Amino acid sequence: MKKQYPILSFIILLCFLASSFLYHGIQAADQASEGTLSKNVDIAQAGQQKQIREIFPQAHSIHINRKDRIHYIIYDKQSMFLGIAFYTKDIAPDIYGYGGHVNLLVGITAQGTLTSIKLINHLETPAYVEGKLLPFLQQFSGRSIQDKIVLDQNVNAITHATVSSTAVVNALNQSIAKMSTLRVVQEKLIPPRSSFPAKDIILTLLLFMLAIISVLTSQPILRWFTLLSSLLYLGILKGSMISASNIAVLFSGRWPLFQTNPHWYLLTFFSILCAPYFGMVFCGYLCPFAGTQEILHALTKKIRKQRTDTISPAIENKARFIKYAVLMIAVSAGILTGHPNIAIIEPFITLFTFNGSHAAWILLGLMLLLSMIYYRFWCRFFCPVGAFLGLIAQKSLWGITLKKYPCSYCLKCEQICPTRAINFQNKDHLRVDTPECVLCLECVNNCPDRTLGVRRYGKK
Ligand code: SF4
Ligand code: SF4
Repeated sequence: MKKQYPILSFIILLCFLASSFLYHGIQAADQASEGTLSKNVDIAQAGQQKQIREIFPQAHSIHINRKDRIHYIIYDKQSMFLGIAFYTKDIAPDIYGYGGHVNLLVGITAQGTLTSIKLINHLETPAYVEGKLLPFLQQFSGRSIQDKIVLDQNVNAITHATVSSTAVVNALNQSIAKMSTLRVVQEKLIPPRSSFPAKDIILTLLLFMLAIISVLTSQPILRWFTLLSSLLYLGILKGSMISASNIAVLFSGRWPLFQTNPHWYLLTFFSILCAPYFGMVFCGYLCPFAGTQEILHALTKKIRKQRTDTISPAIENKARFIKYAVLMIAVSAGILTGHPNIAIIEPFITLFTFNGSHAAWILLGLMLLLSMIYYRFWCRFFCPVGAFLGLIAQKSLWGITLKKYPCSYCLKCEQICPTRAINFQNKDHLRVDTPECVLCLECVNNCPDRTLGVRRYGKK
């Protein structure tokens, strides 16, 4: 297997790069053809421009897009995108007030907040709304488009004009929801800045540090403590796990905004950067999916006859390739379609998010059952993330090796290794299949001569 890793890495890398080039090529062609659809995008009429300038005072050029829902795209003097504007009558034509439409001109800034709202016309009973409609509308200015407007909860209704107030709120909520699905909104609007998750960053860094200390000190208790802490924190509390979609995002080149996703960056890059140094440290110590499988396997130890499983080495050697195929297919599909989430195929995500289709729940049940019988069944044969990290870890600097010579050559390590990652070529030559070794330390702690340990390879 060891000789095949470089070839596998090359094929998989080639596949991801080809998918990425293809995707970006299709996008470029799409944009070019959009550019030729000038009949759909042109300069807004003078009357509309005047109204829009009242809500976007810095507007310089205003283009109308008639192709999707009619909306206006606004740029400043330096051609910087300022936001979009639309009339609620165009976007939510089914919503009526007491006397008919309440037509509003609404702007959404590049930061994803509402501008001031301009009342264009209405047919409400003047006695009810006279002098009250404009102050009512002022409440919406500056709100994030991600916050749903709820009458009498986060905005006050106009007294004695509930129907009119409801019409305005419904027109706004419905229009914003529809406009939020537009490509221009999804791609150009800067998501509202969320507070920096310093606590999450610190705790995740501590988990990584703990994992490295556990590897270097070869303490099984510390390994279990790290694995369980990670299961509790990353899995149960945060629901932040690494999936094949992280890899698809990396290769698609459409990385999320750092300011709003620092935790994503930390998890993804630390797991990847640790692999060339400490091998499968993420899989062995931090992955919540692995924690779940190991707990189940340990809990059912008493009712199983054998300590590990009964898959024959010949089958296991071939079955290991499945995960590389899964990696290639899932990630390429995520890149090619431009929807990295398609690559989320890990059944354990259903467990931690409590969200999934019937098929996902069935697959999860099956994997949980199989992991009771076979040690880390998902990891060993199907996990695309494990496959990816394994390819990076194939020549890791640290790993299981002979600390001293000679060993008594009892081959206990070979028998005890739950992933069949270790074997002796001859008395002096120990071979560890790094991508398969999850650094569980079973071999180290069961070696009667204490000759095995985690060390820097090549160090005498
Ligand atoms: S192989 Fe996959 S599921 Fe298993 S520990 Fe690694 S990332 Fe987690
Ligand atoms: S028992 Fe196997 S998987 Fe565990 S540390 Fe040793 S070689 Fe690695």
